[in-house]
Amino acid sequence: MCHVAFLSSPGMGHIIPLFQFAKHLVHHHGVRVSFLVITVEASAAQYQFFHSAIIPPELQVINIPQPDMAGIITNDMLLLTQLCVITQESLKPLKFILAELNPKALVIDIFATQAIDVCEELSIPVYSFFTASATLLTFSLYLPTLDSQTEGEFVDLPGPVEVPGCPPIRTEDLLDQVRNRKNEEYRWYLFHVSRMSLVAGILANTWQDLERDALKALKENPFFGEISTPPLYPIGPLIKDDEFLTDNDAEIISWLDNQPSNSVLFISLGSGGTLSSKQLTELAWGLEMSQQRFILVARKPTDASASGAFFSAGSDENDPSAYLPDGFIQKTQEFALVISSWAPQVTVLRHESTGAFMSHCGWNSTLESLVHGVPMIAWPLYAEQRMNATLLAEEVGVAVKPVAVPGDEVIRREEVERVVRAVMEGEQGKAIRGRARELKESARKISEKGGLSYNSTCHVVEHWNSQG
Ligand code: UDP
Repeated sequence: MCHVAFLSSPGMGHIIPLFQFAKHLVHHHGVRVSFLVITVEASAAQYQFFHSAIIPPELQVINIPQPDMAGIITNDMLLLTQLCVITQESLKPLKFILAELNPKALVIDIFATQAIDVCEELSIPVYSFFTASATLLTFSLYLPTLDSQTEGEFVDLPGPVEVPGCPPIRTEDLLDQVRNRKNEEYRWYLFHVSRMSLVAGILANTWQDLERDALKALKENPFFGEISTPPLYPIGPLIKDDEFLTDNDAEIISWLDNQPSNSVLFISLGSGGTLSSKQLTELAWGLEMSQQRFILVARKPTDASASGAFFSAGSDENDPSAYLPDGFIQKTQEFALVISSWAPQVTVLRHESTGAFMSHCGWNSTLESLVHGVPMIAWPLYAEQRMNATLLAEEVGVAVKPVAVPGDEVIRREEVERVVRAVMEGEQGKAIRGRARELKESARKISEKGGLSYNSTCHVVEHWNSQG
């Protein structure tokens, strides 16, 4: 039996798809997997995920404990810097672990490229599982070239950023990590993407019908500027297919069971998304004004960061009535459900009462929505989510994007009401729902035996099996 190892950085948005791919290899391709994960004690979501996941015996989870970070992580570090520093520090025992395991290959996520050096010493080929869109992958492969050719900030460029073979990227859509080139976060991102050409292959969690242009560009460009394009394997869409339901989760599902089909808007902002107090108030009253059924996954607002719950989501210290506007829960309880912090997202999206998803457009949430044919309201918050929102709303046609009045720092309640009604009851809603259903069907076909994504995975496994 072919044995490979996986290594994920700590964020749930990375752990979940890598783990899903590992399970897929075990169940459908006869591969045995050792899954190395950096454990972050503060992450209740991570703890719950591994303690509730159904894990087949051919998949062994190996915890790499995060070392003491006192004095290494500081409060002023941005999220990606924290993640990268935690990963770097935690990977010190990696050589020893891999030498013991002796796998045929190591599959890493983008923020663990230090493993490439270790694997070179051990003669283990490394594959990168790219957990975001192929559109971001093209931009990332081109970033070292843009970096050496551009003076000043990318966000100050007079026009959009042109990546060979891809639709131009508006500067306001650029991912957070490249918006300030003087920040450490940028240097970390550049460091990791510059090393992508060193891997034996990139596994992309996407498919043709979702990202035709970007996949074509990746196939046809042997080089993105200075970087040679490694062999690409589009293996998506791969999403979580099972979720352990707590008693609270079961109540959510039984509430959904009692609603008409396609009638509920699900609002959830990823594993870390948070809103400012002002924005949360506008969102809440906009939902109330729309008079549509909804489930709101509520998080304590913070004005400091749009990813304020990244390491704490899923913890119980969260009472929505303490921070939602006065009277909101009472006024909406006849037709809505407010839940605290974390929801069984895939189970909700799969449910036939769910009619639309207001999402921060993280890549996993995007795929989970499309695999279940659910149209979206795009509410991007951090990382590369603005690029995803533009792709979904303007190129693919499965999402509606609310707009802020120029000069306003928040999206107003009237705009929230407008988009919610447009998606739940309007003509626009019908159109994007139709498109979402088409993508659901194409996702199903491409993933089943004989489909392109299934075959891509077979090719990678053949390579691994042919290793000495
Ligand atoms: N998730 C969930 N319940 C929640 C919030 C998030 O199960 O209440 C899961 C979601 O299903 C997805 C992941 O967390 O698999 C979030 O990944 P994504 O790439 O969408 O966003 P990120 O959290 O990385 O920003």
